Amino acid sequence: MNCYIGVDLGGTNLRAALVDTDTGQISQLRNGPTLAAEGPQAVIGRIIQHINELTKAGAAASCVIRGVGIGVAGTPDIDTGVIQILPNLPGQWSNVPLQAIIEEQVRLPVALINDVRALTLAEWRFGAGRGVETVACLAIGTGIGGGVVVNGQFHLGIGGTAGEFGHQVVEIDGLPCGCGGKGCLELYASGSAMAAMGVKEVMHGHTTRIGELVDHDLNLITAEIIVQAAQEGDPIARGILERVGMYLGIAVGNILGVISPQRVIFGGGVSRAGDLLLKPIVRTVNERVHVIPVGKVDFVMAELGNHGGLVGAALWARRRCEGE
Ligand SMILES: [Zn+2]
Repeated sequence: MNCYIGVDLGGTNLRAALVDTDTGQISQLRNGPTLAAEGPQAVIGRIIQHINELTKAGAAASCVIRGVGIGVAGTPDIDTGVIQILPNLPGQWSNVPLQAIIEEQVRLPVALINDVRALTLAEWRFGAGRGVETVACLAIGTGIGGGVVVNGQFHLGIGGTAGEFGHQVVEIDGLPCGCGGKGCLELYASGSAMAAMGVKEVMHGHTTRIGELVDHDLNLITAEIIVQAAQEGDPIARGILERVGMYLGIAVGNILGVISPQRVIFGGGVSRAGDLLLKPIVRTVNERVHVIPVGKVDFVMAELGNHGGLVGAALWARRRCEGE
């Protein structure tokens, strides 16, 4: 068994598990809040604690752990193991040599990767992208991330930065983004953007199921609430998903023009909206993209659920350890 530890460091949740990288099976799952507000030191301490517990659990099950992969919600430099930006985690994460810090504490090889690049690798190997040569994967959650497989190769670009779909410009004079740019897709189509649109509707006094679901407490409006209201048929919530789907469709059209994938995979919490989101995306792509054979592209939902990211992080660690 090729056993690795996979860790998924998100802005909200921190997950870790033992992963059999031959099958994608996970065991000994640890899943808790990241508590990112406590700062990098506390979060790093929790990651180390998870790894140590999993190493012990692995030993008890006579499984030799070969390495640790950590998917992070931001841009680590995959060659140096240093964090560049973690936009959704508060505190000073820039330039933190996360790989070296953790390697020293856990005495195992550690490899970092962006969380959605990890998800892409897992979906390509075990999920919705199995057997497909060229794949684009977008995860729509708090932010928007992505990853690409081109001609049967997991494509990473310089330092692992290929696939930053959330930071492609969809409004040239748009809102300022946490990445330092402006008009980025994730300001208009992420879960946070959806929640903000919902808040605006309720504040403007529009009668909507969104307000009823949270008893008019604006702080409780999330992307999940918008999706629930839309599923219950609320026209304002459906309008928000239409608008988000339009922006995503424009972005997907841009991606088609660059890599012409056979399959586009949508993951992340917001993708649970299913057809309510997929339909406006595909409609927009069909309306706007004419130089790529859109009819030959599959638009599908991710298959691996919440644990895809940590499975992919473990796959990444294996690639690094085996020198692939
Ligand atoms: Zn940006």
